[in-house]
Amino acid sequence: MNLHDHPGYVGTRTLMLALFGPSGTPPAWRADAACAGEDTELFFVPTTTAEALDVCAGCPVIAQCRADQVDWENRTRSRRFYASGVVGGTTGSERNQTYYPRTTTRKEVA
Ligand code: SF4
Repeated sequence: MNLHDHPGYVGTRTLMLALFGPSGTPPAWRADAACAGEDTELFFVPTTTAEALDVCAGCPVIAQCRADQVDWENRTRSRRFYASGVVGGTTGSERNQTYYPRTTTRKEVA
């Protein structure tokens, strides 16, 4: 079977393009990530947030990871709104509050 005929190919390719841009390939820093080989569920399940943050705390590429994540989430309103998971040593709600604060204010109703 040709890889391009695989049912998951289009979805995977779309995700890679969304995450990593036109090349669709992960950035070089991923090779040094402390989470390489970890179960990704660790970073998305609320009960393991502290454990995931511990992994990030010892990661040599934490700054690049966080910068890329914020850049990616900041491209659309829904990504900012639904920021989730531990990435770059931050939780989704921490990134939301720190990098995408709400700027709208309620209008006074006369
Ligand atoms: S900072 Fe955390 S999520 Fe990012 S690469 Fe390192 S271990 Fe993985």
